Amino acid sequence: KPGENPQTRAELREQHLRATDGQVWTRFPPEPNGYLHIGHSKAIFVNFGYAAHHGGKCYLRFDDTNPEKEEARYFESIIEVVRWLGFEPWKITYSSDYFDQLYDLAIELIKRDKAYVCHCTQEQIKADRGEKISAPKACVHRSRPIQESLDEFKKMADGHYRPKEANLRMKMDLTDGNPQMWDLTAYRVLDASHHRTLDKWKIYPTYDYTHCLVDSIENISHSLCTTEFIASRQSYEWLCDALDVYKPRQSEFGRLNLQGTINSKRKILQLVDEGYVSGWDDPRLYTLIALRRRGVPPGAILSFVSTLGVSTAASNIQIARFEQTVRQYLEGSAPRLFMVLRPLKVIIENVPDDYLVMVDKPFHPKNPQLGSSQIPFTRTIYIDADDFRLEDSKDYFRLAPGKSVGLFQAPYPITCTSYKSDIATGEVTEVFCRLEDSGTPPKPKAYIQWVAEHVSSGSPVRIDETRIFHPLFKSDNPLAAVPDFKADINSNSMEVIKGAMVEVSFWPLAKRSIADALEEARARSAKARAVPGAGSHCDADTPEIAPEQ
Ligand code: ATP
Ligand code: MG
Ligand code: MG
Repeated sequence: KPGENPQTRAELREQHLRATDGQVWTRFPPEPNGYLHIGHSKAIFVNFGYAAHHGGKCYLRFDDTNPEKEEARYFESIIEVVRWLGFEPWKITYSSDYFDQLYDLAIELIKRDKAYVCHCTQEQIKADRGEKISAPKACVHRSRPIQESLDEFKKMADGHYRPKEANLRMKMDLTDGNPQMWDLTAYRVLDASHHRTLDKWKIYPTYDYTHCLVDSIENISHSLCTTEFIASRQSYEWLCDALDVYKPRQSEFGRLNLQGTINSKRKILQLVDEGYVSGWDDPRLYTLIALRRRGVPPGAILSFVSTLGVSTAASNIQIARFEQTVRQYLEGSAPRLFMVLRPLKVIIENVPDDYLVMVDKPFHPKNPQLGSSQIPFTRTIYIDADDFRLEDSKDYFRLAPGKSVGLFQAPYPITCTSYKSDIATGEVTEVFCRLEDSGTPPKPKAYIQWVAEHVSSGSPVRIDETRIFHPLFKSDNPLAAVPDFKADINSNSMEVIKGAMVEVSFWPLAKRSIADALEEARARSAKARAVPGAGSHCDADTPEIAPEQ
């Protein structure tokens, strides 16, 4: 029986070990049909991390067998984002690199009477395999002579057939309880130009046919994939055995499912195409490019996925847990700036017009290494409208008429003496205060943010538009919504505020952080390149995957 000849098996194993030198070889195999999302970071971490942990190698392999859905921008972004996460592929390959070899193997498969060309319609195939049928019916084409299938397969490749008129199907086991054994399609006719092979092929191999054979050709030692492929393990092994080729071992791990968002490229594409978000990098999404745009560092993402473990249980994780990991990661390293979202003008009446104190303000209250900035404190400052109230109360500690409040880092607290409001709307437009710079100043119970008006130093920096993002979905499980997940969209997920103000150190800091980010990215990819197959973030924490044989 194929695959069961102990001598063949031993030889194949020897060959494999010679090719890999007994190392762990893995691959991360995305389909280039969209941008990667947070879920993929787990697969990236598992594949690259597992190989690096064992001193092995990890390929980035584009599974480009669906030319109709693939686009150049997806390929480029996937490479970029893998590197951004700190991993450098040992080799970048494409399933299409092997189209010739896969074609030859298909001919071999037919010759071994393990595949046949079938002309049934999709509907017919579905009906034969119908849900209630435990043993599907064999169609008339299944028993056609080998030579006929060989001829028909060549005709398929020569463009003799239109899409759906002919498929190459594997002759598996219709009596098996696993539907993955019911004569899966190996090749179909597609009228599509391919990103890399252009118009060379009229037929394209399917995922089920390609994945295991390319794993085999590339000498993958551990084919790590998510649990929805458990049933496919049997067809994976069947095909390797049917062709007597080296059979990698497939092991499965649970998907990462971040709740309250969509973890599927196809559905994210709908959100983009239908204008619910501004693009694949819209900060409300959990694609990796959206997280990068939001300022989430790659280390925070890896720190998050490294806590998930790689058992077969799916990880259903609350967004709050992810955000918390990111906050913790940024806590000690992110500089703090003063910002007032809805500025309210405060005039300090008891100081002269040209009053100016330069305040030395640390960028972080507990991390002096981040340095400090000099910000002006003058007669006119702005505070957040939310930090002022007309009606005082016992549990309210910020500014109100007659009440004092502290200003972060400023030399003295202020006390509100009066205010001006708009006659028509009643809205407070200006607040007048006294600087408590003499005698015994009141001890403030709260401190608030502020920015000062100081034209010659460019303070404050005025922000045209501030976008505050709220969850894109109303519930934790948008997929449960009726009629579809879009019914769960929160129509107020983006709040736009005009005219906010931020302290004057914003610009130098923004320039510095852009320069740092570029520098870090350069250093990271140089480092990753220096150690073949090893990403800078894979360390001893990478979890062990239990062998399963
Ligand atoms: P999508 O449904 O978003 O398109 P996919 O599984 O089809 O996801 P692929 O491009 O085929 O995406 O994925 C490449 C690899 O990443 C596969 O091995 C897949 O199992 C893994 N992967 C995809 N989504 C997740 C996830 N949510 N958690 C863990 N691994 C994932
Ligand atoms: Mg896929
Ligand atoms: Mg998919």
